[in-house]
Amino acid sequence: MEDVDWDDDDPFEEQREQVESPMRRLLFEYGRPYWFSATVGLISSVLARALDLLPALLLAVAIDAIFGDAAFAEQVPLVILPEAWLPATREGQFWFVAAAIAGSFVLGAIFHWLRNWGFNAFSQDIQHDVRTATYDKMQRLDMEFFASKQTGEMMSVLSNDVNQLERFLNEGMNSATRLIVMVVGISFLLFWLNPQLALVSLAPVPLIAIFTYIFVKKIQPKYAAVRSSVGKVNSRLENNLGGIGVIKSSNTEPYESDRVEDVSKKYYNTNWEAIWLRIRFFPGLQLISGIGFVLTFVVGGYWVFTGTAPGPFTGTLQEGVFVAFILYTQQLVWPMAQFGQVVNMYQRAEASSERIFGLMDEQGRIERDEGAADLEVTAGRVEYENVSFGYEQNERIIDDVSFDVDGGETVALVGPTGAGKSTVLKLLLRLYDVDDGAIRIDGQDVREVSLPSLRQSMGYVGQESFLFYGTVEENITYGTFDASREEIVEAAKSAEAHDFIRNLPDGYDTMVGERGVKLSGGQRQRVAIARAVLKDPDILVLDEATSDVDTETEMLIQRSIDDLTEERTTFAIAHRLSTIKDADQILVLEGGSVAERGSHDELLENGGLYSHLWGVQAGEIEELPQEFIERAQRRTARTEAGDDDD
Ligand code: ADP
Repeated sequence: MEDVDWDDDDPFEEQREQVESPMRRLLFEYGRPYWFSATVGLISSVLARALDLLPALLLAVAIDAIFGDAAFAEQVPLVILPEAWLPATREGQFWFVAAAIAGSFVLGAIFHWLRNWGFNAFSQDIQHDVRTATYDKMQRLDMEFFASKQTGEMMSVLSNDVNQLERFLNEGMNSATRLIVMVVGISFLLFWLNPQLALVSLAPVPLIAIFTYIFVKKIQPKYAAVRSSVGKVNSRLENNLGGIGVIKSSNTEPYESDRVEDVSKKYYNTNWEAIWLRIRFFPGLQLISGIGFVLTFVVGGYWVFTGTAPGPFTGTLQEGVFVAFILYTQQLVWPMAQFGQVVNMYQRAEASSERIFGLMDEQGRIERDEGAADLEVTAGRVEYENVSFGYEQNERIIDDVSFDVDGGETVALVGPTGAGKSTVLKLLLRLYDVDDGAIRIDGQDVREVSLPSLRQSMGYVGQESFLFYGTVEENITYGTFDASREEIVEAAKSAEAHDFIRNLPDGYDTMVGERGVKLSGGQRQRVAIARAVLKDPDILVLDEATSDVDTETEMLIQRSIDDLTEERTTFAIAHRLSTIKDADQILVLEGGSVAERGSHDELLENGGLYSHLWGVQAGEIEELPQEFIERAQRRTARTEAGDDDD
């Protein structure tokens, strides 16, 4: 079989390694509020299992005293009861035993029901809490984290790993208590009934312990590998379903089928390694337990039918006690065989909780000061002071950028692709923190105000207008949930979206499909603009907000955007320079630095990069200086190679 080593590329390895005592955390941190159901489950489980042990004992009494000739009150199991309670006639004794057996079944059923309630309630509650807490934590992580992880991998933590916990907390705890009560209880009873024969019956127990220990050591790393490869399968599927349009149009179905087959095969192989170990382990365990049974039968049976103690043993063995021994060794086999499974479930749950807590403990680069004051926007003045930033260490995407925007002004960011325009705006939204320098809004450093207040003050329309599965209206009111229908329609009108929405089959109640696939790119952008209009933010950030709409619609939206931007500070990135030529200030970025700055007319007069870009868009390609064309060629080559060092 192919040997798979996934540990090297487990996406959560780094996180996992930092987690200490994950199971203790799970049980004590998340389990604490549910101590009641856990206690009910545990106690009922112990009592239910103890009652399961009673019938065999009572049968022994019946065989020896009622069907045989032994004295009823002298039977080992009865000596704990006062003699006065015990019936004197044989018939009375018969009914006494019958009632006791029936009673133990009825009580047992009640405790089994309580145990089921307790463990299920406990595990469902924890599962729910862990899932919501993990999601809650995860969505607050930095954008950096999401850029480095695949969606499918995170999904597998939130679904598969959380489900593993539930399995352990319910089935695992249940089997564990059964195992402990059965092993301890039966050992105790056997020693009480006949310590010599008990030694024979329990001889395989240490063997089982050693066997299981070896199994656990071997299976542990395999389970971690299985969990991680599940994540990879999910990621692949997620990616492919998301890009199904590209797959179809590129005619790459066979290629993708191969890739899916590949990850699935790797999952198969890792899982098979674990299965291979497991399927040999359980029958082995059963075999060892069976040896105990056979030994008991041979030694005990010989003892009973010859009437003399075999080998080193002394005394007599009553038939009833022998039967009880046989029944108990039988009762012991299954919980023993499950010993491995319990440990198994524990291991899986541990691997899963490591991943879960690893995710929860993940520290972002963005520090959050929970006690920070809210941002107070007065004029809406924004200053960038010597701002530098890189997504990764030793890399500078933004290099010493400084500029001021007065309240209510519109500043346009232009420049070649990869110049860092979007990054400049991400820093304002504090999706990332600056490495050097500072960004201030009305004098308040964005790092020193509370994040919710900062983001609340801004409206952002990005290049890809993501819509949630739901109606058009739900997508417009997203974030401004209390808006009235009139306000929504007003916002849609400003975004030039009202007319097309009215023509949709269900108007504002039309479902947009997943990610908004039922709308065109331009329609999605207009819904996103309407969302920003409705929010009525102090600062508006438009990152190529109209890139997907046709020129005519853009002109229409531009009119409403002009209204929208009139009284608020606006940042706009645009490739079509005609849309920003009226901006109060135009910043031309190149290679992460401000290359030029001024109004449209000033920049045209300068004859620099902006004037050339303008020339390109005006169709004056012939008139461009050769040097500009060469620089553009160099720049695009660099961007394609992913090298941005200027
Ligand atoms: P623009 O908006 O001017 O096209 P961006 O700000 O999007 O430029 O990107 C600037 C540079 O930063 C590009 O070279 C891009 O490859 C890089 N970049 C953008 N986002 C990330 C990211 N999340 N991680 C690493 N590098 C990034």
